[in-house]
Amino acid sequence: MIKKESIELLIENADIVNIISQYVDLRKAGANYKARCPFHSEKTPSFVVSPTKNIFHCFGCGKGGNVLTFVQEIENLSFVEAVEELASRIGFQLEYEKNSNQFQNLSIFETVNLWFKNNLFNNRLALKYLYSRGITSSSIEKFKIGYALKSFDFMTFLQKKNIDFKDAEKLGLLVRDEKNRYYARFSERITFPIFSSSGKIIAFGGRTITNHPAKYLNSPTTDFFNKSKTVYGYNFAKNYILEQGRAYIVEGYLDVIMLHQAGINNAVAPLGTALTLEQLKIIAKKGVKIHFAFDGDSAGLKATIRALENAMPLGVETRVSLFSEGIDPADLVQNKQLEKLKTILNNNQDGVKFFIDYHLKQFDLNNPYQKNEVFQFLKTQLNKLPEVIRQTYFEYLAKTLNLQLQNYQKKPKNTSSANNNNNNIGECNGIGEMSILYSALQNSNFLNILKQELEENDFLKNRELLKLVLNNQTDEVELKLALCDYLYLIEDEKDFLKQILSIKKKRIKYQLENFQGGSEYDIIDLQYKLIKLNNRIHQEC
Ligand SMILES: [Zn+2]
Repeated sequence: MIKKESIELLIENADIVNIISQYVDLRKAGANYKARCPFHSEKTPSFVVSPTKNIFHCFGCGKGGNVLTFVQEIENLSFVEAVEELASRIGFQLEYEKNSNQFQNLSIFETVNLWFKNNLFNNRLALKYLYSRGITSSSIEKFKIGYALKSFDFMTFLQKKNIDFKDAEKLGLLVRDEKNRYYARFSERITFPIFSSSGKIIAFGGRTITNHPAKYLNSPTTDFFNKSKTVYGYNFAKNYILEQGRAYIVEGYLDVIMLHQAGINNAVAPLGTALTLEQLKIIAKKGVKIHFAFDGDSAGLKATIRALENAMPLGVETRVSLFSEGIDPADLVQNKQLEKLKTILNNNQDGVKFFIDYHLKQFDLNNPYQKNEVFQFLKTQLNKLPEVIRQTYFEYLAKTLNLQLQNYQKKPKNTSSANNNNNNIGECNGIGEMSILYSALQNSNFLNILKQELEENDFLKNRELLKLVLNNQTDEVELKLALCDYLYLIEDEKDFLKQILSIKKKRIKYQLENFQGGSEYDIIDLQYKLIKLNNRIHQEC
């Protein structure tokens, strides 16, 4: 465990404005700073940072907290990871409770890795393999590459270091056979430590050089390591990614190591799977393009398509470069073909168009039924994109399929409902309200929650629309929604409930502030409702 006082000192020492401005453009506004919120999309800034209070708060989506909360949320980290990440960024020395598990476990990884590293320099075969792949000594040093000896040697080493076998098992270093005997997970393999975002060793990957049937092997999921939430090389690459506004996603460890060796320091890799949404969230920061640089073979292509699909809800710009079959980035670096590598990377394609084109190729577009099938599929996929981006690619899709676009666009030309109020933007002023309606109409579960929780007058601005939704007359609501140029799709049920409750709270507060006439009991009643609501928000959200 990290000492509590140490965490407090860290928060005090970190400059909240400096840290947050690494992600958003903060503008001075009086004593505070303002920006467009990085946690929800918005047109006018409602995200405020107060350097004197050392906190941030978004008046749009309600997110707020201190600098640590911010790092945790934006980097999608656990609390401890966020503490370590922040400390490493500002060069703060954390203090750990002695004998804490966390500390002991992390130091077991370090101890084991030192042993792996020492083994490597005494193993000619392993070194020869690394050099034959073009990996230099300084890369071996930077990525802390090592070598695991036979299982027996590893067990002896653990005993010598007084490392409990049970602990080593929990960390994924030991496994048990059918007779319940321990043996080393990594034996006779070149070892690649896997680092957390803040650079701590949290797992290993191993490559066989003795023709073991499993060429690559990773640590299993442990308390420290989840492969779908870890990005290989990110600890080395993160500053370069932010600086250059681009992250190269390559297939494996070797590609990452070789690209860094060639000075392309913003390369990272998933760990044996297609890039997941969680991994994308770690990489996709303000203005960062996600650039896939995979093999053009069918496995590489499938991984690219899956990753592109995962990236859609994030609305990040994606680019794709595919290497022709049999060549990977590592080979090109090794063969000193840097120019060729750069040409391939520079000749990249738009990710979403690539995704659309790939799927269109799988169907016979002369057949109207197949054409419809692929159109319906792509429509669902594109719907995951944020509004403006979605519309652009809809246009591309419709044009490619030779469809009459106006049939598919949401915008009505002229409707009586739109004419009732010619201030369309004004109608959308209750952004939270409209987003709640929008999200409820996309998700029947949410719709039920809405019906249970809200009454017509809980909305301050769009009561008529809420009434229509409560009465299942959603057509007109859909039209109004189509006229809003900004809507936020809530995806998580808890978030949805939270928004609903905060709308109710807003209404009660409004009533209290504008209270006229009525008895004292009415005020007390409102106050009581507010307290009850606050309790609920605390308990349920
Ligand atoms: Zn926000």
